[in-house]
Amino acid sequence: MLIVSRGLDPAISMVSGRDLDYAALRARHEGAEVEVTWLESNEPSYLLYTSGTTGKPKGVQRDVGGYAVALALSMRTVYDVGPGQVMFSTSDVGWAVGHSYNVYGPLIAGATSLLYEGLPTHPDPGIWWKLCADYGVRTMFSSPTGIRVLKKQDAAWLRRHDLSALKWLFLAGEPLDEPTAQWINEGLGKPVIDNYWQTETGWPVLTLLPGLDLKPIKFGSPGLPNLGYKLRVIDETSGADAAPGQKGVLVIEPPLPPGCMTTVWNDDQRFLSSYFSHFKELLYSSLDWAVRDEDGYTFILGRTDDVINVAGHRLGTREIEESVATHPSVAEAAVVGVHDALKGQVPVVFATLRQAAADSPESAASGMLQRVVEQLGGVARPARVYVVNALPKTRSGKLLRRSLQALAEQRDPGDLSTLDDPGALEECRRALERGPSGGA
Ligand code: ATP
Ligand code: MG
Repeated sequence: MLIVSRGLDPAISMVSGRDLDYAALRARHEGAEVEVTWLESNEPSYLLYTSGTTGKPKGVQRDVGGYAVALALSMRTVYDVGPGQVMFSTSDVGWAVGHSYNVYGPLIAGATSLLYEGLPTHPDPGIWWKLCADYGVRTMFSSPTGIRVLKKQDAAWLRRHDLSALKWLFLAGEPLDEPTAQWINEGLGKPVIDNYWQTETGWPVLTLLPGLDLKPIKFGSPGLPNLGYKLRVIDETSGADAAPGQKGVLVIEPPLPPGCMTTVWNDDQRFLSSYFSHFKELLYSSLDWAVRDEDGYTFILGRTDDVINVAGHRLGTREIEESVATHPSVAEAAVVGVHDALKGQVPVVFATLRQAAADSPESAASGMLQRVVEQLGGVARPARVYVVNALPKTRSGKLLRRSLQALAEQRDPGDLSTLDDPGALEECRRALERGPSGGA
């Protein structure tokens, strides 16, 4: 274990043979000249595991040359950052965004990468914007989850610092719901650009190419296919191309562009079976539902395994989450399908409220139900609403719906190794015991 002393606890006991002292290692290696090791472009550069949101994480293997090409291109075209400019990504460097756009991308582009370790709310909820002001950040990259954390706070925090250098805010990693996008867009007065990708791809699949020619932003859509991607939305059963407005699975026609995974580490078979064997044709399945509009904008509707079946009606959990999130008191919501003897499955909501929410959990819950009925119809009406203080997330900030679903069905929540804060899951377990704030 690498131990970094922050000076808070001077008496850290080190276990020899297991622990390494960061300060000592740094003193030993500081200023060392490391020679370049030349690699063939197809050699592996690194392995990175997916978030484990849907199941057992897959070890994504990436090459050297293709990845460098993809990053060099996307720094300009997707993120609009060039030599000498500053990019600030709030991702952990251990995640795909961190690898690509905290480390390699900015270095390849000759840009500066701003790294920040800490919460977005400490010492105050303006810290990210203070950093942007202090370091002249041009492009900021964060996640919808990060913005929802701020959305619990007063929007005035967004306006306390000079953001004249900040040109773009990019968000990726999870569906960006319209209320969150609008809140941050209005609060900052900057363009907010959703972009869709996966650990597997290593760089954006859907984007608006603001560095080239910004396409109009449509709230709710991460945009159009990125350079190098041949994307299709196809019918799950027939494999035929879905018409505009018709829901299907988002697939990539091989070959995958440079930068994408080359295999699953140590398991070529799993690479094929997980990604390339869902359809008669050889196609890479994103395992996400999508719909395209007449202009070719793609909307991501959630994961192929996040669909619930209520009395024969197939409902996407994302659609219900979005509807719940339009209630002004709601900070964040997770919807899961829970087994029901009569209907097969019913939607169940777990929601956190904004700090400034004026209503009680009960009245907020009934407001959420009302919104869903108005917007999606009675069949989508959640059976129960649990108001909680925190939702279980992976360390990359994604909602762990499968563990919530397991808890709600009194099953074992399964592999929790990717869970960030076990307290949040415990909190939801207690809420289930206490009983819902609404529904039933
Ligand atoms: P695992 O593959 O292990 O189950 P995971 O899919 O969460 O975990 P990641 O590669 O970190 O692992 O996440 C990619 C997924 O995140 C996408 O397939 C999609 O479901 C979601 N996602 C990413 N960006 C967006 C976006 N802009 N809009 C909607 N969904 C997004
Ligand atoms: Mg995935």
